[in-house]
Amino acid sequence: MTRTPKPSHVAPDTRIYERRESVVRSYARAMPRQFNRAESVWMYDGNGGRYLDFLSGCSTLNYGHNHPILKQALLDYVAADGIAHGLDLHTDAKQRFLETFERVILKPRNLDYRVMFTGPTGTNAVEAAIKLARKITGREMVIAFTNGFHGMTLGALACTGNASKRSGAGVPLSHVSHEPYDGYYGPDVDTAALLDQRLSDPSSGLDAPAAILVETVQGEGGVNAASPEWLRAIAKIARRHGALLIVDDVQAGCGRTGGFFSFEDMGIAPDIVTMAKSLSGMGLPFALTLFRPEHDRWGPGEHNGTFRGNNHAFITAEAALRHFWSSDAFASDVERRGRLLGNRLDRIAGEMGLSTRGRGMMRGIDMGSGELAAAVTSACFERGLIIETSGAHDEIVKVLAPLVIEDEVLSAGLDILDQCIREAVAPALGVAAE
Ligand SMILES: *Cc1c(COP(=O)(O)O)cnc(C)c1O
Repeated sequence: MTRTPKPSHVAPDTRIYERRESVVRSYARAMPRQFNRAESVWMYDGNGGRYLDFLSGCSTLNYGHNHPILKQALLDYVAADGIAHGLDLHTDAKQRFLETFERVILKPRNLDYRVMFTGPTGTNAVEAAIKLARKITGREMVIAFTNGFHGMTLGALACTGNASKRSGAGVPLSHVSHEPYDGYYGPDVDTAALLDQRLSDPSSGLDAPAAILVETVQGEGGVNAASPEWLRAIAKIARRHGALLIVDDVQAGCGRTGGFFSFEDMGIAPDIVTMAKSLSGMGLPFALTLFRPEHDRWGPGEHNGTFRGNNHAFITAEAALRHFWSSDAFASDVERRGRLLGNRLDRIAGEMGLSTRGRGMMRGIDMGSGELAAAVTSACFERGLIIETSGAHDEIVKVLAPLVIEDEVLSAGLDILDQCIREAVAPALGVAAE
């Protein structure tokens, strides 16, 4: 009964939104329902509609909506009048988070990172990372990559590729060079070697960089997964040219690709790592910038923010670390499920003459055009499946199901996706959708 989506098809009264909410809103346009409750992999509207969430707040809800263990931890904390906001004061909640992060995440992975609590958004963690790299190296230029997405504030936006996002800046976005990501010119061009050549050539015009900023899997940019070889080459290039390697793990981290960090098993050790989205585990705002102790060269309050002490997020994040990451069981389950997902998407794509992207539970199908991809996602939504697109032309249908999804529910969602892709592609191929 609870295993299948059941959309309500009742459009909400949107007058207050049209009257008062800025037109900057976006997701609500593609999903015109009013949601009032969510549990695990399901979202509900007020009209009996039940939707399977293959978006998970863009990978902010890796453990599903309102996970009972996280929810109980937060309820207990609030009931006991625990500190809600504490600037960056020492609190029991912060201490517990740091101790558990050290014990469950850093120590077993042999990682020695200082933990910086930034403002609670991914973009602020990126701002802190690039500020720090510029401060340490005394250099201005940052290397980012084609199709990279790093956030909306000016420093992070300068590192973001997408033209329509960049156009909101209103000032020049400078001091960043956008170099071709792995595979940008097709499988036969080694873009890492091109970058190395340009950085090694004193006459290339490319200034020595403070940092190389990279996503191991590009979330918003089209679910492009870099190969371990390419990432290792980029790490070497950073070292050789005196730049810090920053991995932006805001979307790909917290288990989305299997490990807690997306760079585990890639053979690289970033100097700086940014995290946000699923870090709190419950959709609460919370971001971190991690860096090697020798890079901890801030003055007190030099990068600041009122909401660095979201103690409610410390509580749910700590509960998530203990529950999901104290052993390897969750990571191996995500890896196994990621292979199921990959195999199924490969099969659909193969039959339809399409191609797939991604790694772990972060994958997509390239529909070839934004129009076709939008046709697929809106047909999915009509059948109760919440799913979105990404990529330069919004041409990739991106599957970001909660990592805790049961295999048969994942399968049921993929049946819907499969059928909607067939229906969208069949007319173009001149064949029947069956
Ligand atoms: C979402 C995202 C950001 C920005 O995070 P916000 O919380 O929206 O500011 C930065 N980097 C990556 C890779 C992201 O996916």
